Amino acid sequence: MLLSISTTHQPATDLGYLLAKHPQRCQQFPLGFGQAQVWYPQADVDRCEAMLYVDVDPVDLVRGKGDAEGALSQYVNDRPYAASSFLSVAIARVYASALGGDCKGRPELAQQALPLVAEIPVLRSRGGADWVHRCFGPLGHEVETSALPLDATFPEWGDSAYLRLRLSGTMRLASLLQHLYVLLPAIDGDRHHYIGDDEVDKLVAKASEWLPGHPERDWIVSRYLKRRRSLVRAALARLTESDETELEESEAAREAPEQTLERPLSLNEQRLQLVAETLRASCAQSVVDLGCGEGRLLARLLDERRYQRLLGVDVSLLALERAAERLKLDRLPPLLRARIDLKQGSLTYRDARLAGFDAACAVEVIEHLEAERLLAFETAVFAHARPALVLVTTPNAEYNARFETLPAGRFRHPDHRFEWTRAEFHAWADGVAARHGYAWEWAAIGAPDDALGPPTQMAAFRR
Ligand code: SAH
Repeated sequence: MLLSISTTHQPATDLGYLLAKHPQRCQQFPLGFGQAQVWYPQADVDRCEAMLYVDVDPVDLVRGKGDAEGALSQYVNDRPYAASSFLSVAIARVYASALGGDCKGRPELAQQALPLVAEIPVLRSRGGADWVHRCFGPLGHEVETSALPLDATFPEWGDSAYLRLRLSGTMRLASLLQHLYVLLPAIDGDRHHYIGDDEVDKLVAKASEWLPGHPERDWIVSRYLKRRRSLVRAALARLTESDETELEESEAAREAPEQTLERPLSLNEQRLQLVAETLRASCAQSVVDLGCGEGRLLARLLDERRYQRLLGVDVSLLALERAAERLKLDRLPPLLRARIDLKQGSLTYRDARLAGFDAACAVEVIEHLEAERLLAFETAVFAHARPALVLVTTPNAEYNARFETLPAGRFRHPDHRFEWTRAEFHAWADGVAARHGYAWEWAAIGAPDDALGPPTQMAAFRR
């Protein structure tokens, strides 16, 4: 397995400092499953390239496992040639300081974004080139892949599950190494070494800066942790800890120090309260929660006997799994259980399951949709499902200036695709109401700022 990292930063030989490997020497490192070597095919002022070669010993891997079934595949396999979790382990072992963002004696170098190219001649991707692009692309890499034929002498046999990968971009070396460390095993999808509980810590340490907002976050975490559900859940919870609720709660606590005895209700709590009150006042008996997430609203509604039918819909299976746990779905008494259901689905497609409810809620959901999919959401909800009441909440972007920990121009959550001012929300709601024959009312959620308005806003559409 080979990983080449090169730069044209001037002087390019700075790469030697960054990797903590002398460009004039070839060095060897023993690994549990073979050995690694590092050498520099080129080390000039204009361009410098470091090669990491990992030699996996398949016999070493099998030895001591005790399952002497004699299966030849234990020895004859692609392990020595295809980049995989072994390459990750080698990166962590051989380039440890660079991966951690350290550079002895030249700390400023490690913080600098440099033009970097990484090349892996043979990479196994079960999901093909598509997943390689989806994993690396959103992180600012230019991704080039070329398929490798199954057998070069017989091109008619088609392509293999292997490809050549070239990544180029301007970023910190630590970022590039972290991306490779986490994404290579996820893409390979077949981690050979044991996944221990400390694997979550390793993942969070290497990915907390860039994975929370990654569009394929759940897929990556699930594959990285070999689909071990409890670990996947733990990792996702920690990676998304800094989500909007926390930001809002910590800010709410800071804003009212005099009230610390009687801690103000968190914004999330106020939001759910207003939605629940509005539903109650409407006398709705059936509610669909669109983008129900972990089921916070549903848990509250399930406590009220007035609701005969509750449905939570979300695109994320993981969110639904957590919702099922929060609602204790598998332990509910049958009569209660019959009143609630969770379904996976996307809100940007017409879906017959969303029809026939008195009310629909989309609490902090629309800002997670691509702006160009918003019309599809509008059609699915207001043209097809058409409940008598639709409640939509979304952040008020103007209020972001009050969040001291939020840099200007940034969204409250990395997964937000947009955040609207009050005027923008009004304009959208006016359009929706006019197009689909609804009347609507605006409401504030959270204590408003005189100039900026409230932290969050709600539109209640009635037909
Ligand atoms: N309403 C919940 C969750 C808000 S977070 C609450 O207030 O706690 C936004 C949710 O929308 C996430 O759970 C996300 O998975 C879901 N979501 C994003 N895009 C979606 C889509 N196209 N279809 C369905 N759900 C979607």
